[in-house]
Amino acid sequence: MKRAIPLHTQMLIGFVVGATAGIVGNLAFGEAAWLHALVEYVAQPVGQIFLRLLFMLVVPLVFSALVLGVVEIGDPRSLGRIGGRTLAYVVVVTALAVGIGLVTVNLLQPGRGLPPDVGQAILADAAQNATAIAAKREGVSALDLLLNLVPRNPLASAVNGDLIGVMVFALLFGIAAAVLRTEGTRRFLGAVQGVYDICLRLIEWIIRTAPYAVAALLFAITARLGVDVLVQLARFVGTVTLALAVHFFVVFPLLVRLVGRMSPLDFFRRAEPAILTAFSTSSSSATLPTTLMVAEERLGVPRRVGRFVCTLGATANMNGTALFEGVTVLFLAQFFGVDLSLVQQVTVLLLCILGGIGAAGVPGGSLPVIAMILAMFGIPPEGIGLILGVDRFLDMCRTCVNVTGDLVGAVVVGRGEAETAEGGACGADGAA
Ligand code: ASP
Repeated sequence: MKRAIPLHTQMLIGFVVGATAGIVGNLAFGEAAWLHALVEYVAQPVGQIFLRLLFMLVVPLVFSALVLGVVEIGDPRSLGRIGGRTLAYVVVVTALAVGIGLVTVNLLQPGRGLPPDVGQAILADAAQNATAIAAKREGVSALDLLLNLVPRNPLASAVNGDLIGVMVFALLFGIAAAVLRTEGTRRFLGAVQGVYDICLRLIEWIIRTAPYAVAALLFAITARLGVDVLVQLARFVGTVTLALAVHFFVVFPLLVRLVGRMSPLDFFRRAEPAILTAFSTSSSSATLPTTLMVAEERLGVPRRVGRFVCTLGATANMNGTALFEGVTVLFLAQFFGVDLSLVQQVTVLLLCILGGIGAAGVPGGSLPVIAMILAMFGIPPEGIGLILGVDRFLDMCRTCVNVTGDLVGAVVVGRGEAETAEGGACGADGAA
């Protein structure tokens, strides 16, 4: 027999099997000691191994992705002005996306509804696993936030799971590497590229074990909480899709119209091949060739701009992913009864902007980043198990937003270039 079941179907099967077994166990055997033992000694460890594998990749992945991303933006020869505009576009539009996500999740509160003691009980369990990280949760003031941006020791930040410290270090490192184009830095960047490629391969392998992890994690969670969890999950899917839709159907058209001066309808029609490829592959990187083709040939963006913005965007401009990270973190915080103050939510916003740059453009590429952000706020990373089962669908949707965001960026930056270079010979003209 051929093993042709696609991975996302396997994940769905894992989801259904785990959830059904857990709910049946919960309803029929409730407090039985063997059920507890099964959860504690089998399901939890299997899920834990998967999560640890994801954690394992966070530091090398985020470091290499950020350094390479910044170097590409900052290469003085290939860009200058285009680089500055692209950077501004990425930061502003990603911040908008995360903002939309955070507002939606605060308004709809999809994670509330579980009796608080249940969430707290899971939290207490998870605290052992989440080790010292949980301690970080309380009392971060705005000043601390600012000071914590600069790590005293990047290795200590990495060891303690302080993602911001690692990210800021990587950013500065990338900037210096971009400015200093010596033989030594070039070789070093080659090695960083190697680290990045290896991490991508590892993610691919790890994600292949996801169906088992999904089954185990879902079993563990539904055996304890019963069917209510699934209702919560449906609300989560609804919230993410709604927020993504707002960004896709409101923010993008406005940008295309007002800044790119192109008809949004026309834009979407021309961008369709890339959007469909993104939807079916769930990977910005796999979609890149199509994105480039669309930018140059169908949207008429000047080649230099299109190539730069889209190539960079495939790994560094992920509006949908950043939005999804924000919604997920807040949803799981609500779910487990962890209150996040305004300052902490702002931290989440910043982390998600960087997380959109630091996530890899492959299916499930944002999962390691989310696991890390959760741990930073003392939210059990096991929550990822909850969302994994529905992740493929959401991944398809957010990848569409990611790729469309790259194309909008190409049109917007291309328009700016054309205007600066005087007279509006921009390729977007043809479609305006
Ligand atoms: N699949 C996404 C992409 O390639 C990344 C993610 O959000 O997992 O754009």
